Amino acid sequence: MRIVLASRNKKKIAELEELLGQYVPSIEILSLDDVGIYGEIEENGQTFSENALIKARVAAESGYIGIGDDSGLSVYALGGAPGIYSSRYAGEHGNDELNNSLLLDNLKSENDRSAAFVCNIACVFPDTGKEMVFEGRVEGRILDEYRGDNGFGYDPLFFYEPFGKAFAEMTADEKNSISHRGNAIKKLAQALKEINNDQK
Ligand code: IMP
Repeated sequence: MRIVLASRNKKKIAELEELLGQYVPSIEILSLDDVGIYGEIEENGQTFSENALIKARVAAESGYIGIGDDSGLSVYALGGAPGIYSSRYAGEHGNDELNNSLLLDNLKSENDRSAAFVCNIACVFPDTGKEMVFEGRVEGRILDEYRGDNGFGYDPLFFYEPFGKAFAEMTADEKNSISHRGNAIKKLAQALKEINNDQK
């Protein structure tokens, strides 16, 4: 089974292939570069699922099953912010340090620190035009100081009660076992496994 992930990030492709491969052993994940799709994809959706679908539709132009994902942090006391703007919350794309410090500032006088990481993965089938979206989420709370050196993004500020650790204090395997992305991938894997079995 061949799938195109709407990404050019080799690490992301390898990681998804490993995780999905546990459920569908014959799976092969290609990047946009592998199938000759170049240029930036404009993520102008208003929700995680719209953005994931925008990317998956582009990947499906390859003729293979297209997959796109969008994730972020949703803080309840901030009305769901930073949400789809998670990577550029403080104005600069991918500046984790600025984003985290703005988040701490915005929550300074806030008692309700509850938050969730959300991941949407969209899957588009080029032959039928069928579209599916899988959502994974994990609930936690925002710490008032940084903990741990692993991971990326908001991981040092996101505390996961059942493990008694911030995401940045977890190993990659620990985080994958409970994370928003891990949960969404499990749902996607289950669906792909069923489709793969039907095709046999
Ligand atoms: P992406 O859609 O997976 O690229 O995530 C968008 C942004 O959301 C990232 O740049 C991070 O700021 C934030 N984010 C998403 N997932 C995580 C996570 O697992 N840990 C920390 N931050 C995350």
